[in-house]
Amino acid sequence: MGIRALFDEQQIHQYDVGRTTVKVRRRKLKKLLDAIYRYSDEIKRASYLDQGKPELEVLTTEIYQITSEIKKARRDLSEWMDKQTVGTPISLLGASSYFRYEPKGVCLIISPWNFPFNLSFCPLVSAIAAGNTAIIKPSENTPHASSLIKKIVEDIFSENEVAVVEGGIESSTELLKLPFNHIFFTGSSAIGKIVMKAAAENLSSVTLELGGKSPTIIDETANIQNAAKRTAWGKFMNNGQICIAPDYVFVHEKKKDAFIKELKKSLQTFYGTRIEENEDYSRIVNEHHHARLESYLDDTEKRKLEFIQKGQIEKSNRLIEPTIVEAPKADSALMKNEIFGPILPIFSYSDINSVIDQINQVEKPLALYIYSDSSKNCDYIIQNTRAGGTVINNNNIQFSNGNLPFGGVNNSGIGKSHGFFGFAEFSNARAVMKQHIGLTLFAFMPPFKKWKIKIAELVVKWF
Ligand code: NAD
Repeated sequence: MGIRALFDEQQIHQYDVGRTTVKVRRRKLKKLLDAIYRYSDEIKRASYLDQGKPELEVLTTEIYQITSEIKKARRDLSEWMDKQTVGTPISLLGASSYFRYEPKGVCLIISPWNFPFNLSFCPLVSAIAAGNTAIIKPSENTPHASSLIKKIVEDIFSENEVAVVEGGIESSTELLKLPFNHIFFTGSSAIGKIVMKAAAENLSSVTLELGGKSPTIIDETANIQNAAKRTAWGKFMNNGQICIAPDYVFVHEKKKDAFIKELKKSLQTFYGTRIEENEDYSRIVNEHHHARLESYLDDTEKRKLEFIQKGQIEKSNRLIEPTIVEAPKADSALMKNEIFGPILPIFSYSDINSVIDQINQVEKPLALYIYSDSSKNCDYIIQNTRAGGTVINNNNIQFSNGNLPFGGVNNSGIGKSHGFFGFAEFSNARAVMKQHIGLTLFAFMPPFKKWKIKIAELVVKWF
């Protein structure tokens, strides 16, 4: 079926889907849950073929994220779908009020390549929970994952309810011309702007889950061993191709040497000395991104910056070993772009206010991580910066707590996902008021006698 025909079918079917009860939606989510379990070996295989992802990372960062999102939605759905009674001001005496979340209608989900299953199916869970139909457009950069996502969806859903359109920019562009009721996009900030412009043509609402540069601050009170091990884990997992990976680190000058020593030790423990043979270390997704990262390193070399650690770079198997760079300048390629790869710039500092100034001078990040044993320091940093989310004494784990809103702010994103927040994003909060008795209404209807104006003045003053 062509893209337009598919969209038309979903538009016709959206009210049937939208009327579904909690029981029916929970059943659909169970079907998806069973399919994810059933296809888990194929998911692992596709992830390996596309990106050399290790099995454990596929289990924790792809499969678990989807299954836990489904389980939470199934558990909480009836509460989310309940109508929410709210108070009514005395000035409207005689009426009652509530709101309910109704489906937006036909939704488009555009996903990136770095966690293709997670970032296609988690939004789908929210779309289904909220009673929508959806078309998913996965990334062309992970073709094994894309075709498996299509196979899974076709196995359990009819096209007029959930469908997958494969392809790159051409497919996205064609889809974006259609008047979707909601567009959920995960990807880069640059493409996010294209999506938002296209959405504006139809006044489609958008959720934009974007990228950016997420800093880590390690202060003088931090447990350096933990900070180093957890930063190494969060940064080099999936080869640094994670939207919430620490992009660069500020470490207090008194702790810099200890941090670097522990960081190198952790990397050695994780990946050994022969990283090129290590199956626990993923690869860069494709030649384009390999060349992009190489160009950042060329720029670093040209500027004669210090490499604290530099590993092998092999084009043939898209390998870049963990690389650590000392304090690149603000106009360097490493600091002008989201790194999205296994390269970590490290800066030392003595005054936390200069760090805060640097963070606030650039775009608001998706995440800001703090390693500190001082609640006072943590509160000070949180109060004086802005970010989509923050973790204290760890990184990346905020994604896995479905009770928290996940998303960025401005350049790193618009709107939130996960759990209730994802459900709300795919819903319209519809306000409903019912007039029972018109106690005050007569006072506000013409003819506007003097005594009515007096009442209106009293209302303005007291209610
Ligand atoms: P991307 O923006 O290049 O592509 C994302 C999707 O948009 C793909 O499906 C792609 O086909 C489509 N696309 C590409 N060009 C387009 C165009 N001109 N018009 C319409 N659609 C187009 O992103 P990517 O390289 O796949 O993923 C990496 C980026 O995603 C990073 O910036 C990363 O930080 C971000 N990301 C964010 C999150 C999050 O949850 N906030 C999660 C993962 C990745």
